[in-house]
Formats: sequence, structure tokens, C-alpha cells
Amino acid sequence: MKTLLPTALVGSLPKPAWLAQPETLWSPWALEGDALVEGKQDALRCAVHEQRRRGIDIVSDGEQTRQHFVTTFIEHLSGVDFERRETVRIRDRYDASVPTVVGAVERVKPVFVEDATFLRQQTDLPIKWALPGPMTMIDTLADHHYKSREKLAWEFATILNREAKELEAAGVDIIQFDEPAFNVFFDEVRDWGMATLERAVEGLRAETVVHICYGYGIKANTDWKATLGSEWRQYEQSFPLLQRSSIDIISLESHNSRIPLDVVELVRGKKVMLGAIDVANNTIERPEEVADTLRKALRFVDADKLIPSSNCGMAPLPRDVALAKMSALSAGAEIIRTEVAMAV
Ligand SMILES: [Zn+2]
Repeated sequence: MKTLLPTALVGSLPKPAWLAQPETLWSPWALEGDALVEGKQDALRCAVHEQRRRGIDIVSDGEQTRQHFVTTFIEHLSGVDFERRETVRIRDRYDASVPTVVGAVERVKPVFVEDATFLRQQTDLPIKWALPGPMTMIDTLADHHYKSREKLAWEFATILNREAKELEAAGVDIIQFDEPAFNVFFDEVRDWGMATLERAVEGLRAETVVHICYGYGIKANTDWKATLGSEWRQYEQSFPLLQRSSIDIISLESHNSRIPLDVVELVRGKKVMLGAIDVANNTIERPEEVADTLRKALRFVDADKLIPSSNCGMAPLPRDVALAKMSALSAGAEIIRTEVAMAV
């Protein structure tokens, strides 16, 4: 791996059209049975191939084997009724039809360990695997059993910790927890959100990431962003807590956003996975634009702690756009590598 500015994607990539309907969240599978298993593996192979070809240094699965970053994990747990759906408000922002917790939640078998083992076989580069965070999980379902967001979050944290330890044993180098809910429920983050995240990473030797963002480039999110004013300071709530946490890497969005970059100073000492690729529009960034975003961030994070990345997952984008954005990311990172090398 290049020691300086290794690039990584936050998570999802578009799926091939033969596997699932493109540019759609929660898109149903186009295959079934053994053909679906094989199709998912082929899509994962393509995702790895494109990442390597386009200079991504920390490889992930592009979430090719999951329908959605939260619900696919929940689907594998007992105690959740997927037939009994209710409409709830997600992230305090948009309504979605979600499954219902009807009994004690339990992980009856590993969820992603086979997929991660398969990813491990595809590359010698470091690999990263994303899981939903406890708070984001409880925000994506209805609960008629625990009747307490906090209690259910602790249950999920314990389940996630067991899954993470098995992913680590399968050879995953970096384990990421997606917590977009940390940008919305500030009191809960302080009261128990951080504690449940710490529970999820307890005892891991793999490096850990928390990804906090303003969501996919879907209309509900862009409408929400339009109400946030000229400066988005949501990260100021969670970053001081994360700076004192055992999480190794903080993933945030930056490119084309209204986030003042000095928030990065609040996690000084941590590695920073910085979003230098916008996932909310189809314009391909020029390498110089990517470099400009990274250069600005280097005022607040040391070069040996910066991981150039995308703002969020790219699942809803057209496939050719997502691939071209990957190339832009690595070309932009290369500009800064050269600059940093010349400066020392
Ligand atoms: Zn995100």
C-alpha cells in the first residue's frame, strides 16, 4: 500500500443492471437462488477489479451483496418481522416503510463473514468492511418489543461486536460503522450513542472507522441540506466525543458541502477519511478540484493521517459516473502525494 494518502471509498458502488435495477435504493434483486449467489460474487469481483484498476488503495466490496446498508444486516437477525412493516420517520427527515422488532433481537448466524472471506480472496491490498452503527440501526426500524431506543441500541452493539470480531478473523483490516444518525440526534449521541458505538468496537484489533455524513444524494437529503444554512456545523457535536473515543478513523464529507473544514481540528490525532468526491451530483470532479479539497484539509490533519475518500456511498449514481469519480479521486490524491513529497 502507498504509505501516504491511501484512497478508499466510503461504501457502496452501483450494482450491474443484470443484478439489480440501477440508480435505485432498496432495488430488488434481478436474480434468485444459486444464480443470485453467483451474480453477487461476480459483481463483487467487478467492484474489486475497478477499484484496483482506478487506483483505490483500501479495497471494499462496494456493498454488492446487500440491498441496503442497514436493512440487509437487520434482515439476518431473529426478533425482527419483515412482513410487519410500518412507516417511520428516518433521520427525522423522510418516511420509509421499515420492519418491526417483535421479540429479542439475536444474530442467529454470521451476516457478512462469507462475503468478507470472498473479498479477502480477491486482493492482497488492505480491505475495509462497513457495518451499520447501533444508533442508525434503531433509526431504520419500528420497535414493539424493547420500547426504548437506548436498550435496543445496546442489543445491536453487542451483536455488531460479535460480527466485527468474526470479520476481523476473516482477514478484514479496517471495520467501519456507518452512523449518519450522529448528525441528527445530538442529545442521544452524548447520552448513549457514543457508548454503544464503543461497545460495538470493543476488543477489536482491526482499525475502526466511524462514517458520519449528510446522506446519499437523494431528494429528501438535498432538501434537508438546503435548510441547514450557510455553514453546516453538525460535526461539532460528535467530533469532540469521537476525539476522546477509541475509534481510529473519522470519515466525513467535505467536497461541495458547506462544512467548515476547521471541524477536522476537533479530531486532531485521529486519522481522517475525507470526502473529496461529491455523491449528490453526476459531474465528474477534475483531479485538481479533488486536490484542492485535500490541500485545504491538510491545514487541520497531518498528511500521514489523511485518507482521501468519497462523501458517502455511490449506489444511487449511474455506474459510469461512479467509476469515473473513482479515477478522479486517485488522480487528485496523486497530485497531493507529489506536493507533499516535494515539501520534505
Ligand atoms: Zn454516508
